[in-house]
Amino acid sequence: MKITEHLANAKSTLFSFEILPPLKGQSLKELLEGIEPLMEFNPPFVDVTYHREEFIYKKHPNGLLEKVSTKKRPGTVGICAAIMNRYHVDAVPHLLCGGFSKEETENALIDLNFIGVDNVLALRGDAPKTEGRFIPEPEGHSYASELVEQIVRMNKGRYLHEETENSFHTDFCVGVAGYPEKHFEAPSMKFDLKYLKEKVDKGAEYIVTQMFFDNQKYFEFVDKVREAGITVPIIPGIKPITTIGQITMLPRTFFLDLPDALTDELEKCKTNGEVKEVGIEWAIQQCKELVSANVPSLHFYTMSKADATYKIAKEVF
Ligand SMILES: Cc1cc2nc3c(=O)[nH]c(=O)nc-3n(C[C@H](O)[C@H](O)[C@H](O)COP(=O)(O)OP(=O)(O)OC[C@H]3O[C@@H](n4cnc5c(N)ncnc54)[C@H](O)[C@@H]3O)c2cc1C
Repeated sequence: MKITEHLANAKSTLFSFEILPPLKGQSLKELLEGIEPLMEFNPPFVDVTYHREEFIYKKHPNGLLEKVSTKKRPGTVGICAAIMNRYHVDAVPHLLCGGFSKEETENALIDLNFIGVDNVLALRGDAPKTEGRFIPEPEGHSYASELVEQIVRMNKGRYLHEETENSFHTDFCVGVAGYPEKHFEAPSMKFDLKYLKEKVDKGAEYIVTQMFFDNQKYFEFVDKVREAGITVPIIPGIKPITTIGQITMLPRTFFLDLPDALTDELEKCKTNGEVKEVGIEWAIQQCKELVSANVPSLHFYTMSKADATYKIAKEVF
């Protein structure tokens, strides 16, 4: 079922979360056991994030450089199929522009359609750690809006090559990312909203936000998005802080602010355990306010660790 249908049918705020495909060598069993407790809260859909392979260059004694893959994760298609079969929920794979040609994207969409995936989240992706800025593949997309366009064309039965045989119409519902604190590359919020609108004008049917820790930022963002003429649902992204390292890592990585009231409490913590308690309590209060504001769904960034999200959901749903 499409995310838009889940949202339209919902009588109250829904619960959803995303999982990170495990690193190679780990098993599906561990992944499923990790998320099993969250099924108690009946998520109608679960997102499956995508991570580009990471490389290092190893120098050999003869001076030659060898490109070595350091992080590789198993395929999106297999993970989506496993979650859908095991839990009867919709899997929402994240599709990136980065690292993919249009042809590879088309093939991935054919596979996803084949196994019954109805929704995808279309993203540009970030630059690999070894590159300073995002560089599209020679035959790839530069922006998420172009990826949305390709998916919508397939929904109309229009494939890359007219010669493609039996080119059935897919019927994907497409989601895109939105940034309550602005995407870090955008020079202004107005600029960012212009391109968010482009993604929706090209066919995106819902938005999931980057994590935020101050609900006011989300509410103001929703107002600005509506003023820009975008009417699709906006699902807030929630991440409980669970370690001391995240206090500086999250603002550095995701270009967001932590409110003073939260940092004041976090500064008093001596251990990860104390930080986790503060982080969970903060997220509970955030979620309760968002639910009373009737947001369509709460979307948890679990990083495949269910325990903090479980404690929050238990208080909120
Ligand atoms: C909900 C959510 C889920 C995510 N999941 C993943 C994941 O699974 N894997 C992963 O690697 N990353 C993920 N990300 C991170 C995302 O890939 C990065 O934030 C990336 O830098 C931007 O992606 P985007 O789709 O928002 O890009 P875009 O919408 O393409 O925007 C990127 C930047 O370009 C600007 N822009 C857009 N169009 C144009 C144009 N035509 N001309 C000039 N400027 C333009 C925008 O204002 C913005 O600053 C996720 C982010 C969110 C919020």
